[in-house]
Amino acid sequence: MSFIQQITSDFFHLLFPEHCNACGVQLVHGEKKICIRCLYDLPYTDFHLFADNPVAKLFWGRIPLQSAMALLYFRKGSKVQDLIHDIKYKGNQELGFLLGCMIGERILPGSQKTGLIVPVPLHRSKERKRGYNQSKCIADGIAKVLQIPVNTKLLTRKINTGTQTKRNRYNRFENMEFVFGISSSPQLKHQSVLLVDDVITTGATLESCGSLLLANGFQNLSIATVAYAE
Ligand SMILES: [Zn+2]
Repeated sequence: MSFIQQITSDFFHLLFPEHCNACGVQLVHGEKKICIRCLYDLPYTDFHLFADNPVAKLFWGRIPLQSAMALLYFRKGSKVQDLIHDIKYKGNQELGFLLGCMIGERILPGSQKTGLIVPVPLHRSKERKRGYNQSKCIADGIAKVLQIPVNTKLLTRKINTGTQTKRNRYNRFENMEFVFGISSSPQLKHQSVLLVDDVITTGATLESCGSLLLANGFQNLSIATVAYAE
């Protein structure tokens, strides 16, 4: 950043101070989206350090995974819930990107085999309404760190499932089976894929996307999300 750019940026910051998306405190120079204190205090899972972590175990007996991780624990009323709310409903795409970068930094050492990053798609009408897909923002952050392309054309969401919070676990599985579609080109087949979503709860959405990819010749599937809701 040049001296003039720095002065302009500082001046802009004075006029329109930014606040931490997790605790609301005013950010100081050098902080981006999340204050240093929150960055230090967030409930990191460290799942990327353990192959048999709770996210990986969710998929045992369902689909074979190369690796699985979530960056943070999701609890109701927590700072993590605020962060997820901001990237999903408040248009905070930059925050999604930043959290994606944080995932990327953690999975970088084991990422050599990954050929593609695929965000879980939203239904077209939902993406139009929201203006973006939050999983794509997260995927872009991961891609920046890993230097691996993001593919948003491969998977499509055929059915708008709406909110699933009130359905029970069994119904959710049944409900997800035909939700996604795939349009794969022969060149892409046999690639290793990293599937990305914002929050993982039952794993039904990621299982549905993952089994579709595996059934269409993709291999070495990995999963990464910002948050894991126990
Ligand atoms: Zn904070």
